[in-house]
Amino acid sequence: MKKLISIIVPCYNEQEVFAETYKRLTDTFQALDSSKYDYEIIFVNDGSKDTTLHLINEKVKSDAHIRGINFSRNFGHQIAITAGLDNCKGDAAVVIDADLQDPPHIILEMIKKWEEGYDVIFGKRVERAGESAFKLLTAKLFYRFINRLSDVDIPLDTGDFRLMDRNALDQFLSMRESYRFVRGMVAWIGFNQTFVEYDRESRFAGTTKYPLKKMLRLASDAILSFSNTPLKVATFVGFITSFGAFVGIVYALIMRIFIKDYVEGWTLLMISILLIGGIILLVLGIIGEYVGRIYGEIKRRPLYIIKEKTGFKINNNE
Ligand code: UDP
Ligand code: MG
Repeated sequence: MKKLISIIVPCYNEQEVFAETYKRLTDTFQALDSSKYDYEIIFVNDGSKDTTLHLINEKVKSDAHIRGINFSRNFGHQIAITAGLDNCKGDAAVVIDADLQDPPHIILEMIKKWEEGYDVIFGKRVERAGESAFKLLTAKLFYRFINRLSDVDIPLDTGDFRLMDRNALDQFLSMRESYRFVRGMVAWIGFNQTFVEYDRESRFAGTTKYPLKKMLRLASDAILSFSNTPLKVATFVGFITSFGAFVGIVYALIMRIFIKDYVEGWTLLMISILLIGGIILLVLGIIGEYVGRIYGEIKRRPLYIIKEKTGFKINNNE
């Protein structure tokens, strides 16, 4: 029996790269032994405002390997990946960005490792071309920071470019949390994981769809979903300030009772009120972040809403 490989490509305003991405992915799979492997490419249109959807649907019509999922609005990269994985039928699934920063031919190496018996094969970036110094530095610090904080080992310098075996994939898909940091969740499920190294290229065309705001959201999702350390820091800060206050009380009493020199101290008083007030707000903020997430999870909304699916009937007789 042929093995089916599913490729998941999240797309948000990717009209500039779409044609080339389609071509490079297709070329890659032509190089694969077609008596052993079949493939499907699922493009997830994450509420694009340009012609991406139209381009996807054109390909769905002309090529039986192509499927399209169209979201009702922009749900974000991590959710788009999840939707593609939910809807794929493959014995293995590969997630790849639409912008060709992850070279498609690396998938062939991943498949080789998969045949050797690995369940999850992620792409590890050795070089990253065409990224700003700011992005390189923040990414580097971020991956080290999150590993310090969290209990799972998230492999350093990896993105979402990876192959997953059906078994591992089903486990991953059983996790339905709304705040998703996919690479952390994949690390969490365990199994036999390995990596292939590659040089990350610069974006083929178009601009990044990850502005600072989305990067910060991804980072806070990662930290807050994979660790309680911020809460522990809050407790720790609480202890330190209480200790400071205790020393202050002892000092004030000694001054009042024994030394009787207590007129001054207004500055100290103001500073401590402001400092402690600030710390309380900070700690409340941290707790609030977690409470907000609990609220978000408890609503149990669907992770995404699909407006339409195209191309799924042809092979699967749905
Ligand atoms: N993406 C998405 N939804 C979003 C933002 C991005 O589906 O809200 C997709 C985008 O089309 C691309 C991938 O996620 O395929 C990674 O985005 P991008 O290359 O812009 O991020 P960067 O490489 O700059 O971090
Ligand atoms: Mg990119």
